[in-house]
Amino acid sequence: MPVQVAIVGAGPSGFYAAAALLRADAACHVDFIEALPTPFGLIRGGVAPDHQSTKGVSRAFARTAQEPRVGYYGNVVLGRDVSLDELRGFYDAVVLATGAPLDRPLGIPGSDATGVYGAAAFVGWYNGHPDFCDLNPDLNTSAVAVIGNGNVAIDVARVLVKTPAEMAATDLADHAAKAIHQAPIEDVYLIGRRGPAEAKFTNKELTEMGDLAACAPMVDPAQIPAQVDDEMSDRDRRLREKNLATLRGFAERPPGEKPKRVHFLFCAKPVEVLGDGRVSGLRLERTRVDSGRAVGTGEFFEIPCGAVISAIGYRMPPLADVPVDEAKGVVTNRDGRVAPGLYAVGWAKRGPVGVIGTNKADGDTAARQIGEDIAEGARPGSPALEALLVERGVRPVSFADWQRIEAAEGAAAPAGAPRRKLIRIKDMLAVLEDSEVKVTES
Ligand code: NAP
Repeated sequence: MPVQVAIVGAGPSGFYAAAALLRADAACHVDFIEALPTPFGLIRGGVAPDHQSTKGVSRAFARTAQEPRVGYYGNVVLGRDVSLDELRGFYDAVVLATGAPLDRPLGIPGSDATGVYGAAAFVGWYNGHPDFCDLNPDLNTSAVAVIGNGNVAIDVARVLVKTPAEMAATDLADHAAKAIHQAPIEDVYLIGRRGPAEAKFTNKELTEMGDLAACAPMVDPAQIPAQVDDEMSDRDRRLREKNLATLRGFAERPPGEKPKRVHFLFCAKPVEVLGDGRVSGLRLERTRVDSGRAVGTGEFFEIPCGAVISAIGYRMPPLADVPVDEAKGVVTNRDGRVAPGLYAVGWAKRGPVGVIGTNKADGDTAARQIGEDIAEGARPGSPALEALLVERGVRPVSFADWQRIEAAEGAAAPAGAPRRKLIRIKDMLAVLEDSEVKVTES
């Protein structure tokens, strides 16, 4: 009997696992269980809307989804429509590819004030993710602080300052385009608790900040070290030196060249969000970097800002019946093995680090482990799942259904844009009922 595998989550880690399983076992059958009616996880809901080329990998994922040995059940929520125990009864192996979709809490005084947003929520909001489309962030301010020196922080800063013309060929959600482009934002502070040599931006993303139509990058040259001092591989040293060179180039640019500014503030640790229930500023402590760690100097300063976006990393949500390593914020696992017949891949396995392609190795590992652990299929797979969904009145969204949603989004796209995203599940499902479809604007 073919081995029956359920993959929970149709994001990059789930698709790489499916492709690896199909390659490794010529007989196995793979079913996706995905909470949203839309596939591709962070490709749709996380990758910046102005980085369309990064989203191209979804074409390969779509080919995998249409393989004869692959089933696809969208709009089916683990823990609501089907329990993990039920899935493990129906399938020989279950692979958790559920990612890390929540924000790590900022956890400083004032961080619960109105006007403080986590990047998972904020990025989800501008990308039209149904869970975050009602975030309605208040951007009626001239200054925004973005905390973090990773690629998510730089994505957020860039999307906040790009002009409508620069965003025209993107799939920035309508409600977000309206809010961002009407906002009076002039200054964005990009805040790193360590120095420029420790920043996690990739050079491509950093360089892009120097090429914006209406926004100039601002860097204090005194903050840029002459060289990278720490012990590290030649490759890491080259990457860091490249970022320092880019920042030096920014520091040499004339002041006042563009109407908006992104200020790179390094060695600045946020200690308090200021304001009386509503953000009015951020208090920071200057740090120095000692053996790679940020050490407070006892010197404090403040920046005025009306919104704070915290891009300090993601975490996984609690999943019923899944053991969680709270310290690491991942599914408790040994190189992906969670329990007999239960595996984890991607950010659920490793935590929220790495780019889309990093997930490929996890998929290969899971496929190898499933091959080692399960010689012969013994469970029913999709017929049992489908019977349960019918019994519960759950209407799964097939991959062909998704393609109808995708076609509706493409047909509604403004000139030059790839799609106009449907942001509410009811509107996505309405496409499938052939009822009137409107793109909901908030
Ligand atoms: P990240 O690269 O880990 O960056 C997190 C940033 O938050 C770091 O600068 C970190 O500083 C800072 N931070 C953490 N806790 C903090 C605190 N309490 N106070 C102040 N700062 C704090 O994570 P990410 O930006 O969320 O990105 C996640 C992964 O997705 C990364 O691997 C990233 O490269 C990838 N990604 C890639 C792209 C792309 O390729 N274009 C786009 C988006 C995301 P320390 O370094 O001091 O800890």
